[in-house]
Amino acid sequence: MEHHDVLVIGAGAAGMMCAIEAGKRGRSVLVVDHAKAPGEKIRISGGGRCNFTNLGATHLNFLSANPKFCVSALRRYRPRDFIALVERHGVAYHEKTLGQLFCDGSARQIVDLLLAEMRAAGVQLRLETRVEGVTKTEGGFEVALSSGKVACASLVVASGGKSIPKMGATGLGYDIARQFGLGVVDTRPALVPLTFEPATLARLSPLSGIGLDAVVSHGKTKFREGMLFTHRGLSGPSILQISSYWREGDEIRVDMAPGVDALAALKAARTATPRQAVATVLSTLLPRRVAQLIADEDAPDKGNIADCSDKVLGRLAGAVNAWTVKPAGSEGYRTAEVTLGGVDTDALDSRTLEAKAVAGLYFIGEVVDVTGWLGGYNFQWAWASGWSAGQSV
Ligand code: FAD
Repeated sequence: MEHHDVLVIGAGAAGMMCAIEAGKRGRSVLVVDHAKAPGEKIRISGGGRCNFTNLGATHLNFLSANPKFCVSALRRYRPRDFIALVERHGVAYHEKTLGQLFCDGSARQIVDLLLAEMRAAGVQLRLETRVEGVTKTEGGFEVALSSGKVACASLVVASGGKSIPKMGATGLGYDIARQFGLGVVDTRPALVPLTFEPATLARLSPLSGIGLDAVVSHGKTKFREGMLFTHRGLSGPSILQISSYWREGDEIRVDMAPGVDALAALKAARTATPRQAVATVLSTLLPRRVAQLIADEDAPDKGNIADCSDKVLGRLAGAVNAWTVKPAGSEGYRTAEVTLGGVDTDALDSRTLEAKAVAGLYFIGEVVDVTGWLGGYNFQWAWASGWSAGQSV
């Protein structure tokens, strides 16, 4: 039987980082993946430019049943450590916004960088290889692969979440966790566009394709970023962010003119330009089609702004600064960037990501119940958790 010190399941961001670190420590490492190519999600990430980290990443940018679990790994491997790696490989990058770092060129540069590091560390990579079963042995694990059986002292599960099944996402990691008695926190699509039921969709259909700056809130959680009306509902960064907090039946609130007191602006316009049409006044605050829809719905019988009572202006301002809407659902794993939930952090050592009850078994990256905001946080978690496990395997 083939023997390795470390077998990593999943040649994604976390698995490759772990393999590099273990290889550098002199471990013999095999990485297996059922996909045809490694790092496919890296390749398509950040619109093809890979938002590979966020300068401000702390545990406050993550969702998890234990919000402090990710602190240790995030402190052990920081954004500046990955930036140093990127710079060592001569990959040019820039900060787009809000601390988000992207490649100037292509996300493929990040995949190539990781593959070069793996080669230098003597890591073996085997693609198009299925995992058929895992058994615990005295010295570690025996893993049945489609290429044959492999014995290893440490088994690292880096098989990611369920998002984008078309790209090879599976629930294998959760199955392995359950097999060894580890808990799995319920999973759901996150960083995902939200959808409306048909009646709302019909009402808002004239807005499809319009983007604007917005503050989107769910309870006390709010994000100010772009929002996009789509032919299914709402998308854009602010909506993807809030989708990780939203649950079926909940409303979200949207301020479509952040920083502007719409009521004060409307009252001022009523005095200054009383003969302007309501939609025209609103269009100083909002894209024209949005302004028209609000005027049609909230002041249907008012021609000019002068015709609007304080009550009507209050209604119009509410639609601008505090539009409340109940999404019907989300686009699901088909388009979700990440999976919320996953392997219960209670079962893992936060410093090494090793299962507390199963020596030698590690879970890293998205398969764990640690989910980042949009903005490079998810890769930072993949690097940090992979690096931390790589020091221990
Ligand atoms: P993955 O990268 O998903 O890797 C898991 C690997 O395991 C895959 O190669 C898969 O083929 C393999 N695997 C799965 N099941 C099996 C099995 N049964 N047998 C063998 N192999 C298996 N995050 C950011 O921080 N910045 C971004 O710019 C960004 N953009 C994104 C864009 C899109 C469209 C998507 C979908 C996600 C994006 N993310 C981004 C999220 C980020 O890609 C993930 O959080 C990250 O890839 C998780 O890394 P991972 O190594 O845990 O899992």
